Amino acid sequence: MKPALALGRDLLDFLLPAGCVACGTWIPSRAAPGMVCATCRMRLPRPPWPRCSRCHHPVATGRTTEDGCRECREWPGELAHARYAFVLAPPADTLVHALKYQGWEALAAEMAGAMAELRLPLEDDAAETPWVVPVPTTPERLRERGYNQAERLARHYAEHRGWPWLDALERTRGGATQVSLPPSERRANVRGAFSLSEPGEGGLPGRRIVLVDDVLTTGSTAAAAARTLAGAGIRDVTLVTFARALPLRGPSP
Ligand SMILES: [Zn+2]
Ligand SMILES: [Zn+2]
Repeated sequence: MKPALALGRDLLDFLLPAGCVACGTWIPSRAAPGMVCATCRMRLPRPPWPRCSRCHHPVATGRTTEDGCRECREWPGELAHARYAFVLAPPADTLVHALKYQGWEALAAEMAGAMAELRLPLEDDAAETPWVVPVPTTPERLRERGYNQAERLARHYAEHRGWPWLDALERTRGGATQVSLPPSERRANVRGAFSLSEPGEGGLPGRRIVLVDDVLTTGSTAAAAARTLAGAGIRDVTLVTFARALPLRGPSP
């Protein structure tokens, strides 16, 4: 008879893809457990230096200030910093896609492990333990897929870091067409995209928040979430994502 642990591993092998999520190469699970092969892990693209001190977008040498670069200057003050593990390019984009559509916990754990290696500016303040909060998805998408990939990343990220996590936000709307709305109502529509969830209402004042999402694009979603959290009296928000979509126009001045 097989020991229970070996049996559990066999069952996992059956349920999860047999090969690397990114390239399909077979991974001998007992030798190297994981969903991404060693070659793909090495190929995950890191953003080049120098980077903006606020959002880590690549910048031209010596052209960054305390308010940030062209990419983050318009972000609200509550969204203090952003950090991301990889550039949204092969094979990182394949992992993001797989987590979004398959939701595998084992993949979320691996991706969150890479995010947990990022050092955050708030860690200079060793006295404070931040709270980890996922960016919520729309109720429709949650019904469709049965999970929120940002929540899976946030939970594993919090576990890696040993920090508490809280589903503090709800998405009240988002993705709805705004074309027919006059500008004032458009702004109101974006502002109202998030609200505080019931567990989020207590305990938030004065907290430093690590907001977790899979991908950073323009930062407008994180900015809206940070504004909502600021309404609950949090101190500041650091956005941590697995990947960032970098524009092709090169370093930001
Ligand atoms: Zn691979
Ligand atoms: Zn920046």
